[in-house]
Amino acid sequence: TQLIKPRIREILSRELPGELIQMLPKHWVQIGDVLILPLRPELEPHKHQIAEVYAQVLGVKTVLRKGRIGGEFRETNYELLYGNDAITVHVENGIKYKLDVARIMFSPANVKERVRMAKVAKPGELVVDMFAGIGHLSLPMAVHGKARVIAIEKSPYTFRFLVENIELNRVQDRMTAYNIDNRDFPGEDIADRVLMGYVGKTHEFIPKALSIAKEGAVIHYHNTVPERLMPREPFETFRRIAREHGYEVEKLNELVIKRYAPGVWHVVVDVRVFKK
Ligand code: SAM
Repeated sequence: TQLIKPRIREILSRELPGELIQMLPKHWVQIGDVLILPLRPELEPHKHQIAEVYAQVLGVKTVLRKGRIGGEFRETNYELLYGNDAITVHVENGIKYKLDVARIMFSPANVKERVRMAKVAKPGELVVDMFAGIGHLSLPMAVHGKARVIAIEKSPYTFRFLVENIELNRVQDRMTAYNIDNRDFPGEDIADRVLMGYVGKTHEFIPKALSIAKEGAVIHYHNTVPERLMPREPFETFRRIAREHGYEVEKLNELVIKRYAPGVWHVVVDVRVFKK
C-alpha cells in the first residue's frame, strides 16, 4: 500500500493541476471489491476520472463517493462514480457479508464489536437481534458462537441481503429472519441476549427489548452520546426507563465503539436485566 498513493498521484498529475493533486483522498474504505472515496468539492469536475484511476490501481470493480448515512433504515446515499453496481461480498472474521454498499451501511469502525459479539455468544442460547441489518452483529454469533438467532430487519431491501447472508454462511438451521418492525415482534420473555445495534433513538425501543428478554438476560444497548454526558450516559437513561417498566438492571460492561460526530461517541453498554 506504500506504493499506491504515489502511483495514483503520478497517473493523475498528467491530467490534473498540481493544487488538485494535493487534495486527492489519502484515506478510503474498501468493502469487498467496492471503494468508498471521500472527495472534496473542488474535485467534483474530475470525479469520474479520479475514480477510474483509483479503481484501476486498487483493483476494485466499483467506486462510490462517500456521503451521509441517515433515516430510519440508516441508509447510505453514496454516489456511483465508477462501475455498474455496488453489490459485493465482504469477508471479515470468517463471515461473508453480501450487501449493496451504495445503500446499506457497513462501518469498518464497528469491527471490534462484531468480533466481540462472536465471542460473547454461547452455543444454544437465543439471541434476538432487534436491528439486524444484513446480520452485521448476529451472523458472527450464529457462525462462531453457535447461538440461535432471531434477526429482525424492517427495511425490505436490507432484509433480502440478510436472508442471503444466512444461506451464504450456512446457518439456516440456527438463524431465522423477520422482515418486520421489531415493535411488532410477538415474542415475550424468550431471549438470553438482546442486540440493540442502532443509534440515535435506541432508547425508544428499551421497553420492547425488556419484554423480549428473559429474566437475567443481557441486553447490548447501543446509542450515540454527547461527550459531556459520559460516562453517566447512556446507562442512566437505560436504567430509568427499565425501572419505569418494573425492571432492575446491572451494568456489566461499557465500551466506546467510535467517534460518531464531533463531540459525540457511539457507545455500547451490556446490561443484565431482572424483574423487580
Ligand atoms: N446492528 C447492526 C450494526 O450495529 O452494525 C446494523 C445496524 S443498522 C445501523 C440498523 C438497522 O436497523 C437498519 O438496517 C435499519 O433498517 C433497521 N431498523 C431500524 N428501525 C427498525 C425497527 N423498528 N425494526 C427493525 N429494524 C429496524
